Amino acid sequence: MNLKSHLLPEELFSTVAKCATKINLDAYVIGGFVRDIILNRPSKDIDFVCVGSGIQLAKRVAQELKSNNLSVFKNFGTAMVKHGAHELEFVGARKESYQRDSRKPIVEDGSLEDDQNRRDFTINALAIKLNDKEYGELVDPFDGVNDLKKKIIRTPLDPSITFSDDPLRMMRAIRFASQLSFDIEADTFDSIIKQADRIKIVSKERIIDELNKIILSPTPSYGFKLLFQSGLLHHIFPEMIALYGVETKEGKSHKDNFYHTLQVLDNISKNTNYLYLRWAAILHDIAKPPTKRFHKKAGWTFHGHEDKGARMVPGIFKRMKLPMNDKMKYVQKLVKLHLRPIALVRDEITDSAIRRLLFEAGDDVDDLMTLCNADITTKNPTKVKRYLTNFKKVKKKLIELEERDKLRNFQPPISGEEIMERYHLEPSKIVGDIKNEIREAILEGKIDNNREQAETLMHEIAKAKGLDN
Ligand code: ATP
Repeated sequence: MNLKSHLLPEELFSTVAKCATKINLDAYVIGGFVRDIILNRPSKDIDFVCVGSGIQLAKRVAQELKSNNLSVFKNFGTAMVKHGAHELEFVGARKESYQRDSRKPIVEDGSLEDDQNRRDFTINALAIKLNDKEYGELVDPFDGVNDLKKKIIRTPLDPSITFSDDPLRMMRAIRFASQLSFDIEADTFDSIIKQADRIKIVSKERIIDELNKIILSPTPSYGFKLLFQSGLLHHIFPEMIALYGVETKEGKSHKDNFYHTLQVLDNISKNTNYLYLRWAAILHDIAKPPTKRFHKKAGWTFHGHEDKGARMVPGIFKRMKLPMNDKMKYVQKLVKLHLRPIALVRDEITDSAIRRLLFEAGDDVDDLMTLCNADITTKNPTKVKRYLTNFKKVKKKLIELEERDKLRNFQPPISGEEIMERYHLEPSKIVGDIKNEIREAILEGKIDNNREQAETLMHEIAKAKGLDN
């Protein structure tokens, strides 16, 4: 196969080729970029490998491109040049040997072949020559192009060696399968099953990177099913394993919450690419196992799973090295509120219930509705229709009430300071009580959300509390 001309960012590659010739090095484009060219997939980062010093080549290329955006990482023997939308990464070809209990290999200079041998999958080991005579020629020692055609993830060497050298590659196999909708070749997958427990030597940061990429893939349930079948999920996310299975008592069964969760995740993925909304889908029922009870009459219940689930979120985020900031709070909020729109639909849709939802969900109310829509996984078409029609009603009311009452980002119309000043109070419980009463009156629709009506009510409350006017 010759990938000459139309497939390559021509000017850039010929520049690298020219520089490599000048300093007498063999250079190649390698890895993900080559794979993505063949798959016709957009790809920003370009990896170059040369037999010799990657840093020297990078310096030369930066000079030639008149780029002053060169970063050199001496310790790693790599260098990066930013060029337009592309990040160009340069490294010398290397040979890696691993010891059993560490992810850190012993690295030596090597040939292109050595470098391809240390790659994770055949489809990621492809290289394109950038030398004068053979410019554009593909170097594909493991039949990677064929695997791309057959849509197969396979390790270049014996999978037990590839995975034992770096167990993160097990997650990567599933990540690529999920991103590209590929199968994992049988021996490769068997080897993952055998070595799944070795994932424990890999850092949490690298694991979550791969897991997030699985979550962001087009049909994430596929990746999760592979993680489950391989045994990896048991190590990295035991709370999710607890969702698996159906229990039956006295002829009553509950649904399998693992598959339900995956269905919700797939549903939501059709409507959002926002990672943390997808995380909210994954975690919405996470506390169903610890809140599960059986009642003779009612059957299976999961009372309070939304509150307990919300309380579980920080622990899961912390352990997985997900961010402990507003993103975690956002997921927590959605988990906590995920039953509310459904409850609204069941009961009569009162204005005050909608106001409360707007007040609690704030700007995330639309995402909450997206989550609730995705949560409808019943196969009963009459039920689906009823839910969807009622959701439409809730949405309409939400919009009407928001336009009128502006509760999304509720700010108390009268601040605590003002109350303290007006009634000569020190910071104390009574100040909070007055504020709360005003807020409750607004949410209940007793007064409008404006300063004038709030002030009148404040006087009434103060009087009732015997405060000096
Ligand atoms: P993406 O950019 O979507 O993450 P990618 O294939 O470029 O895909 P990177 O993680 O950037 O993935 O890795 C670039 C290349 O480096 C891969 O194509 C592969 O050849 C090699 N590589 C990366 N990580 C490993 C690893 N753990 N073991 C072996 N080879 C790896």
